[in-house]
Amino acid sequence: RTMSTTNKMKAVYVNEQGDVDKLIYSDIPIPKVNENSVLVKNRFVGVNYIDTYQRDGTYPVSLPFTLGREGAGDVVEVGSNVKNVEVGDRVVYLGGSTYADYTNVPAEAVERLSEGVKYEDAAAIGIQALTAWTMVRDGYQVKKGDTILVHAAAGGVGLLLCQMIRHLGATVIGTVSTDEKATLARENGADHVIVYTRENVVERVNELTNNLGCHAVLDGVGKSTWDDSLACTRRLGTLISFGNASGVVPPIKIQCLTAKNLKLMRPQLFAYLATREESQKWWSEVFDLLAKKVIKLHIHKIYDLENAKQAHIDIQSRKTTGKLLIRLRS
Ligand code: NDP
Repeated sequence: RTMSTTNKMKAVYVNEQGDVDKLIYSDIPIPKVNENSVLVKNRFVGVNYIDTYQRDGTYPVSLPFTLGREGAGDVVEVGSNVKNVEVGDRVVYLGGSTYADYTNVPAEAVERLSEGVKYEDAAAIGIQALTAWTMVRDGYQVKKGDTILVHAAAGGVGLLLCQMIRHLGATVIGTVSTDEKATLARENGADHVIVYTRENVVERVNELTNNLGCHAVLDGVGKSTWDDSLACTRRLGTLISFGNASGVVPPIKIQCLTAKNLKLMRPQLFAYLATREESQKWWSEVFDLLAKKVIKLHIHKIYDLENAKQAHIDIQSRKTTGKLLIRLRS
């Protein structure tokens, strides 16, 4: 083992779900690999909105629970059956318990990093770019000439959606809360931006689309935007509700889809990555987008692990843009 001899590491976990004060930064045992897993010494791990849901109880977890769903770092130990990676490999992965110095990851969830890819970029594209890309390629296959509405267009997933949709030849309408965010969304591919704190989203979308609405609406905001999203989806269009930043969408009546023959989808990324083949396909496409500079990363801020609480406060404050990362000490 090329790791600490104390068998302890720093981690951020909760013993009970609740507000940010439930986050504990302390020592826990370094996890042990099994025959099919690898131990990764994390360099950078991503902060995602899902971390706040798992902290506050929006999503259930089994306690105690170490937060974090993605990371990049070095393989320091491999299980006896592991063939696809070796000690010393630089890797990125999606998995559990990444707000920690070390994470035990199933070997099949680990992707090797090509030479030019930095740890922080790999940790930053993970969940957010895969979520964005799976939605625009499978959830709704964005085509040239389409008009797509993206809520929270200056957020982590939002900026990537703007870049990808522009690349696919469609028109992007973004919604944001401030003028600064509007500028950033435009710089990242949004053709039109609605500042929803002072403009009416449905009226502006109707003006911009000749009253037809959008071919697809991509809504990660949830509760507060549901009605507008439904109103902004055009006849035969697709509404994808993929998050709960403002709260969970209340139960809906299925008849709300009837008037315009709408398709409704509520995806979660991990169901796109259930097999090794699917996982490899989506990762390789996203790495390709990064290599071709179709996507460029906007890192909002890098936090130390002991400041994970501040990262949660910030991402929930609506004041962040792009990606929040945590750096682990080497
Ligand atoms: P963001 O960076 O987009 O942050 C959330 C943004 O939502 C804010 O910046 C804010 O933008 C907007 N927002 C609107 N109302 C609220 C509110 N009441 N409270 C807080 N924020 C609000 O986060 P992420 O990119 O990490 O995630 C975006 C969404 O995508 C989340 O809902 C997340 O859960 C979801 N997601 C879903 C996945 C899936 O598999 N289904 C995977 C990954 C992410 P503004 O100020 O412009 O309104």
